[in-house]
Amino acid sequence: MAIDTLQSAGAQVHPLRGTPFPRLMEPFSLGGRVLRNRVLMGAMHTGLEELPDGPRRMATYFGERARAGVAMIVTGGFAPEAVGAASEGKAIFDSQANAAEHRLITDEVHAGGSLILLQILHAGGYARHDKAVAASALPTPFCPVVPRMLEEGGIEQAIESHVRCAQLAHVAGYDGVEFLGAGGYLINGFFAPRTNHRTDRWGGCVANRGRLALEIVRRTREALGKNFIIGFRMSLLDLVEDGSTWDESVWLARALQEAGADFLGSAFGWHESPVPTIASVVPPAAFSTLTRRLRAAVALPIVATNRIHTPEQAETLLARGDADLVALARPLLADPHFVQKAAAGESERINTCIACNQACLDRTFSHGVVSCLVNPRACHETLWEPPKAAESALCVAVIGAGLAGLSCAVALAERGHEVTLHEVSSSIGGQFKLAARVPGKEDYQRTLVYYENRLRDSGVTLRLGSNPTAEELRGHDHVVIATGIRPRMPGASAWAVHPKVMRYDDLLSGRREAGQRVVIVGAGGIAFDVAEYLTYDGVHNTASFMAAWGIDAVASLRGGLKPAPATARSGRSVVLLQRGVGKVGRGLGRTTGWIKRRMLERRGVLMMTDAGVDAVDEDGVLIRQGGEIRRWEADTVVLCIGQESCDELSASLRAIGIAVSVIGGAFESPGIDAERAIRQGMRLGLDL
Ligand code: SF4
Repeated sequence: MAIDTLQSAGAQVHPLRGTPFPRLMEPFSLGGRVLRNRVLMGAMHTGLEELPDGPRRMATYFGERARAGVAMIVTGGFAPEAVGAASEGKAIFDSQANAAEHRLITDEVHAGGSLILLQILHAGGYARHDKAVAASALPTPFCPVVPRMLEEGGIEQAIESHVRCAQLAHVAGYDGVEFLGAGGYLINGFFAPRTNHRTDRWGGCVANRGRLALEIVRRTREALGKNFIIGFRMSLLDLVEDGSTWDESVWLARALQEAGADFLGSAFGWHESPVPTIASVVPPAAFSTLTRRLRAAVALPIVATNRIHTPEQAETLLARGDADLVALARPLLADPHFVQKAAAGESERINTCIACNQACLDRTFSHGVVSCLVNPRACHETLWEPPKAAESALCVAVIGAGLAGLSCAVALAERGHEVTLHEVSSSIGGQFKLAARVPGKEDYQRTLVYYENRLRDSGVTLRLGSNPTAEELRGHDHVVIATGIRPRMPGASAWAVHPKVMRYDDLLSGRREAGQRVVIVGAGGIAFDVAEYLTYDGVHNTASFMAAWGIDAVASLRGGLKPAPATARSGRSVVLLQRGVGKVGRGLGRTTGWIKRRMLERRGVLMMTDAGVDAVDEDGVLIRQGGEIRRWEADTVVLCIGQESCDELSASLRAIGIAVSVIGGAFESPGIDAERAIRQGMRLGLDL
């Protein structure tokens, strides 16, 4: 639809002219309503859904994104009935009381100028409780109970519960609902032959398997009429054996259109899929070729999703015709003002999601309230009071421009303090700068660009190559020590000074180079990063990603999976030594650790447990594993055995009467934790 037409229909065309993202900022007509741009906030379960004060917190969380320009928000998933809850205590939306308390949310979002949909998610066989139901009574990976097969009456009840949930959403002021018909949950579980072994009118042929989805949409449309948006998020690739075929997906999409859906969202993979779909290893917009194919096959608007984390990527895929709308989820955790900044042509000021999953998805699986590594306020907005202008401007020196120092310095300066940030090296970033050199973590550089801009905007004086003494800091009201960590060395071991031995920071910074045969000592996140760095083949694009993980890019095979190549050995021989026994890298992220392990295994990286170095000599390394010692040929030994806090100033500053705060790795070294560093820096910056 042309912008002029939308204006005459009452659309709010963004007042900023000359945006570099004209397609992204273009209004769009959906279900008789007008979206002010093409950005949806995609559904994410945050853990707020289950809290007693969840509606108030969600109202603040969503309201902030609405005021910052998101066109339409989709909530996290709510079950339409108790048997559909993902586990005991998970969010259900099935009563007038639920509708009444959600008024807070919808009012706040509408006041911000956005539309909002309730996502309805019936967990089906993935429910982790003994009332779980599904198309067939088949065991579900990761779930302790086998779901009960729904009988005809139970199916009718499931349909009615979806319709009733949508009606309650309408009462609550929602503009519509999105049915989650993907991910292997109830509706998708009926559609895929993998989980539907029925022989009645709900199983067998595609029309029977799709009947549940279609009945839910058709009856919801009947119940709620034209002016209620109905979205259906469908699985375009199940990425499991015996999933749906592409032709079946197209059939379902067309039938949903007939049944009354207003738009189709897209989703890829089930929980047990052996393929990453949103981790940093997934190239940007890797799956948008599939939304483009679907868009060509149906008349309904299509929403692209997964690893779209910059306005440039969103603009490109819209301009290419891959989709009509773009769903951003984690990028809006990372920066609530993403849309506003994109509209103003300030994408370099966006706090970009780095796809680490650390504070969001990993936390979902540990049943906590999610947040964001680069934005600790996310989903905790009500617990972080708005910044208050400083009562009197202090003269503050921040020592160290890693993430703790950066977040502290900008927060202080934005409140009116006079801040000088000293960094001993020639650029900002600290340990994070090293991480940005690891293949797949290139987006980390965007975080540093974001801070460069904030430093400039807030008026922080940045002194690079500066390492002041306590005496030189006299005259400051307060000094913040954010000098981070130094890599730990293996005590007094003679082998540690052998020329073949290097610290991980020397390698990742490019100060030293590794040979062809490498032993990595350690098996934590940094050791895995080093192994990735050493075995990377230099090619990272959608085609190589699809090939490496066995994704059927043309979706001709059932489930969209084909055998992945067994190995893709790198030119280097790399062995990784874990001191403890048990699974290697067990401290890695819950949703990303398996990906890293699998990638390194495919490249032939050998992972030894209960292993350490006894000696290093001209020929290589003596590795002690269990009670045995074996010789290993090696050119290089890289140490990744932890860190120690680095604080050489605070004692002497206190001795001369200067107030000191110590934050980040300088305060606490076990495990480099960027989330903790940013949070501590921000907290101090807001409190001082
Ligand atoms: Fe993105 Fe990481 Fe934040 Fe999650 S925690 S939203 S993946 S930056």
